[in-house]
Amino acid sequence: MSARAVSPQSQSESKALPPLPNADKYAVIVTRFAPNPDFVLHLGSIRAIILSHDYARMYRGRFLLRFDDTDPRLKKSALEYYDLIREDVRWLECQWDAEYIASDRIPVYYEHAEKVLRSGDAYICTCTPENFRLNVNAGRACPDRSKSPEQNLVDWAKMLNGGFGEGEAVLRIKTDLSHPNPAVRDWPALRIIDPVKYPHPRVGSKYRVWPLFNFGSAIDDHLLGVSHVIRGKEHLTNAPRTEYLYKALGWSIQEYVHYGRLKTTDIKLSKSLMVKEIEEGLVEGYSDPRLPTLAALRRRGYVPSALRKLGQCERDEPEGDRQDRTQVQLHRKPDHNNSLRGRTDLRCASATTSRKEGPPRQNLQGSSKERHSQPTHLLIGHRSSQKEQGRPADGTVQH
Ligand SMILES: [Zn+2]
Repeated sequence: MSARAVSPQSQSESKALPPLPNADKYAVIVTRFAPNPDFVLHLGSIRAIILSHDYARMYRGRFLLRFDDTDPRLKKSALEYYDLIREDVRWLECQWDAEYIASDRIPVYYEHAEKVLRSGDAYICTCTPENFRLNVNAGRACPDRSKSPEQNLVDWAKMLNGGFGEGEAVLRIKTDLSHPNPAVRDWPALRIIDPVKYPHPRVGSKYRVWPLFNFGSAIDDHLLGVSHVIRGKEHLTNAPRTEYLYKALGWSIQEYVHYGRLKTTDIKLSKSLMVKEIEEGLVEGYSDPRLPTLAALRRRGYVPSALRKLGQCERDEPEGDRQDRTQVQLHRKPDHNNSLRGRTDLRCASATTSRKEGPPRQNLQGSSKERHSQPTHLLIGHRSSQKEQGRPADGTVQH
C-alpha cells in the first residue's frame, strides 16, 4: 500500500500543499525536524518545522523530532534548550509523533562507521586539514586512502581509545575525487573532540568520537524510516554526500525537498549573532522582543497562525509566481505608547530569481524549472487578539 494524501484535518492545515515527490513509492510518509539544541528556535526554522509537520499530517504519516546534538565543541548544546525547543514546536502546533536524541545513538553511528571501514568505503585520514585540502582540490587521493580495511580498523580503534588526539584523525567516506564539488570529495564523517575540554551536557565525557552532521543525520534518516527530507537549499550539497554513504551501505536514498530560505530585510537570522548579542548584554536573553526568536515573537503577541502562514507562504503564491527566495520584512516601528500596540508587519514577499544565483531550483514539486516574474507581496501582517503574554524588557523597544 502506498501513501495517499488526505484532506486537511484542521484549521492549521487549511490549505493544500503541493504533492510530495514520489509519495506513492512509500507505505508511510515520514518527515523529521532536526534542530541542534544550542539555542532556541527562530524564524529561520519555521519552514522546516511547518512543512515537515504538515506534510506528515497531509499523508497521515509520522513527524519526528530529532535533536542533533553531536558537536560539543563548536555547537555545544545546553540542557535548557531541549525543553525550550519542544515548547517552541508545540507552540507552532506541530506535535511530533516520536522523539530521538542523537547523543543517545552514538553506538549506532559507531556500528555503521565500522561497517563502511570494513567494506573499504571509508578510511581514517591523518592528514592535516591543509594537506588534505591541497590534495582534494587537485583531485588527488590522500596517502591514507589506499590503506587496507584492517589498518583502518586499527586506526579507528586508536580514534576511540585516545591513541589519536583531537584533530589528528578523521573518518572519511570515499566518494569520487573528481566530483565537481570539492566539498563532496571524501567528506569527513566522524571526528575526535576532546572529552575533557568539551564534555557533552547530556552524556558528559563518555565519548571522544562524534559524528558530523552529514553522517549522523543520514544514518538516522534511513534507520528511522524518513521518506522525505524537507530542508533549506543550504543543504543542497549534502544530498550527493549522503548518496555515497547509502550506496556503501546498500540503502536507497529518500526524497529530498529543498525550499528557499527566509530572508529578513532588517534582522539577521543568525543564531551566532543572537548569542553574541545576549552575551554582550545588548539584549536581555533569548526572548528579548528585539530578537527574531519564536519565544520573542510569542512574547510580542504573535499567534502561531501568523507564523504558520509565513512558513507556508511559498505555497500560497500562484503557480507562476513561485520564487527562489522569500523575503520577510520584520519592521520595527517606533511605538510611542511604550506598549505592544505598535503595528508590526510580518511580510512574506517573493523575490525574482536570477539564473546567476546558483544551481536550478528544486521546488516543492520536485521540478528544477526556473520561473521568472515580477516580485509579488503577500501581506500576512498579524496582531494577536489574545492577551499579551509579556512586556518588552524596556520601553524603548521598537517593534
Ligand atoms: Zn589523509
